[in-house]
Amino acid sequence: QSIPVVTIDGPSGAGKGTLSALIADYLQWHFLDSGAIYRVLAVACVHHDINFADEESIVPLASILDVSFPTKDNQTLVILEGEDVTDVIRTEEVGAQASQIAAYPGVREALLRRQRSFVQAPGLVADGRDMGTVVFPDATAKIFLTASAEARAERRFSQLKEKGHDVTIARLLTDIQARDERDMNRATAPLLPAEDALQLDSSTLNVEQVFEKAKDFILSKG
Ligand code: C5P
Repeated sequence: QSIPVVTIDGPSGAGKGTLSALIADYLQWHFLDSGAIYRVLAVACVHHDINFADEESIVPLASILDVSFPTKDNQTLVILEGEDVTDVIRTEEVGAQASQIAAYPGVREALLRRQRSFVQAPGLVADGRDMGTVVFPDATAKIFLTASAEARAERRFSQLKEKGHDVTIARLLTDIQARDERDMNRATAPLLPAEDALQLDSSTLNVEQVFEKAKDFILSKG
C-alpha cells in the first residue's frame, strides 16, 4: 500500500498555502511547500553571489542546497545553511527571483528527488505548480486552485498592508500577471492543471467554502 499524496497546484495568490495547511491539519498529514524550496534557492544564490542568469552555477547549487524545515512552537521554520530565512523568503522580490530560476530545467530536475522525499506516512499534502503533473503524477487526489488576477492582487494587498508594507494594488497586479506569464509559458513543467485535477476557482468563494469543496473531493478519492 503506497503512501497517499494530495496535490494542490495553481498560480500565486490563489490561496494554495492556506488551503494546503487546512487540509494537512484536517488529515493530520505532512506538508510540502515546494515554492519555499525555489525561494530558498534564490536566497542561496544571493548568499553565494551567483547571478540569477547563471544557470550553470545554479543547477549544482540546487543539488547540494542545505535547507531544512524544523517545527518550533507550532511554526514551520525555514533554515538555509544554518540561518533562519523564514521571513526573508516571503518577499515579492524573492518570489520573482524564484520564478526566474524555476524556469531552468536542470534546477527542476535537481529538486525532484528532494521534493519526493517528503512523502511520509500517513500521507503528504504538496503545494506548488507541478505537484500533480510532474512531481507526484500518481497522487491520490489533485486540486488546481485558481482565482482571477484581480482577486489575487486584492488579497495580497490586504496581507501586505496588514504587515505594514508600502504597496499598491496596481503594482501587485502587474507583478502577478508577469509571474503567471512566466510560470505558464516556461518550457519545463509549466503551470497547468493535471488532466485528473479538480479545478476550483476561489475568486468568489471564501476560505471555508474552498476547504469544504476540496475536502469532499479528497474524501471521495478514498
Ligand atoms: O508558490 P510560491 O509563490 O512560493 O513559489 C515561488 C515561485 O517558485 C513560483 O512563482 C514558481 O515560479 C516557482 N515554483 C515552481 N514550482 C513549484 C513551486 C514554485 O516553479 N512547484
